[in-house]
Amino acid sequence: MEARDPFTEIVNEANRALIVNNLGPIRPLIEFPVSTSGKRTFKFQSRWYDLHSWLEYSVLKDAAFCFNCRCFGTLVGSSEETFTKTGFRTWKKASGESGKLANHAKTQMHILSMERMQNFKSENQHIDVQLVGIAEASKTRKEQEREENRQIVQTIFDVVRHLAKQNTAFRPWAQRDK
Ligand SMILES: [Zn+2]
Repeated sequence: MEARDPFTEIVNEANRALIVNNLGPIRPLIEFPVSTSGKRTFKFQSRWYDLHSWLEYSVLKDAAFCFNCRCFGTLVGSSEETFTKTGFRTWKKASGESGKLANHAKTQMHILSMERMQNFKSENQHIDVQLVGIAEASKTRKEQEREENRQIVQTIFDVVRHLAKQNTAFRPWAQRDK
């Protein structure tokens, strides 16, 4: 399977449940490339993952993305494309209380995307519970069928035993011995 990357992964109706519930944000741990600005060097920091649950990293673009906005941004309206399509990579402005990452988390779109994800997850949990219920019910039905089959087999045995006692066609050798 090709490695997932937030720059190329398209979220749609068909795969949203799989991506949100099973795959989750794309957070590779690699030796992040260093870029320079003047005499200083900057790069993506893996500790930012811990600070922002939504943060993703694209190896292809050496850029940060937002998992929540990528999954739900198109559903909540205007999107800050930096974190959903092009990727954010101005590392020297990324961190801190007034950094770009913290600022993104305060945008209306991001807050709505977070809400949508919460709702989506809890809806899917309900479906999971329903599926478990259906599985339980069908198990019970299987058990019922098994019980019925056991009774049928028992009945056949009873008939055979009865016929055998009566010395009928089920024991043709008995006829021959006479
Ligand atoms: Zn976001």
